[in-house]
Amino acid sequence: MSSFDNIREILEKGNVVALTGAGISEESGITTFRGKEGIWEKFNPAIYANIPGLIGVFVFRPGRMRDFILEFYETIHNAKPNKAHYILLEMEKRGILNCVITQNVDNLHERAGSKNVIELHGNMIRFRCMKCKKEYTLDEKGLKELVHNLKRASRFQIIKLILPRCNCGGRYRPDVVLFGEALPQDEFTKAYMEIERANSLLLIGTSGIVYPAASLPYYAKEKGIMIIEINPSYTPLSRLADYTIFEKAAEAMPRIFE
Ligand code: NAD
Ligand code: ZN
Repeated sequence: MSSFDNIREILEKGNVVALTGAGISEESGITTFRGKEGIWEKFNPAIYANIPGLIGVFVFRPGRMRDFILEFYETIHNAKPNKAHYILLEMEKRGILNCVITQNVDNLHERAGSKNVIELHGNMIRFRCMKCKKEYTLDEKGLKELVHNLKRASRFQIIKLILPRCNCGGRYRPDVVLFGEALPQDEFTKAYMEIERANSLLLIGTSGIVYPAASLPYYAKEKGIMIIEINPSYTPLSRLADYTIFEKAAEAMPRIFE
């Protein structure tokens, strides 16, 4: 029996939970933090993924701020879910996948059609009022419009587009967790509960070095849950995994369920 047969057998038993990271979206055209080329090489995440860094850029280099926000939303707008996202959807439809826990903020699992998605780091196309907590999510048309408007925006209009006013007088912001910000506790609690009742954990495209998300596989191991990893590179989680497929997600996933 090949390891693909073993993995298929484990997953077919059902009660699977997937934990996905930036790697699952790499073949959709969204680069990982450490990936070569792409947005994070041009815009250092240590500066552009935290509030003090972003304020500094806005004050001293507003044009650069606009370029970053535009490139970020344009990348998400141009990306399409890939085979790995769609196979997770199929697994959910067949009743063998309980949920996807994701560290991604690109909305690609939802765009593929997955219903049970736990977002540990939020979602770039959902906006939340900082005062009254009201939320809305951009649809395809709304995202297209935002990209269109960002392209033409002056440095002051950028603020109106990215932090629009709410009826309550407060401002909305993209509902993502930046470096140094609190994580959504409810989502983490849900993620732990899902792992607790799972038979197996499918780790796809996560480096295992971003905490506390990286603690979830350790919890699964403690609970005696089978761990299957898909990642072209060795990661700190590889030694926890019962099986690792050292391949890209959109290649490996169809091979498991061919
Ligand atoms: P990471 O960037 O730290 O690591 C990505 C992992 O994916 C690496 O281990 C890499 O070897 C692997 N990988 C690369 N290409 C792959 C492919 N085609 N198939 C499968 N695996 C592949 O990502 P992370 O662990 O998710 O942590 C980064 C943090 O940055 C996350 O918390 C996330 O919030 C954020 N982030 C999100 C996105 C997104 O939403 N798409 C993109 C970049 C960063
Ligand atoms: Zn409000």
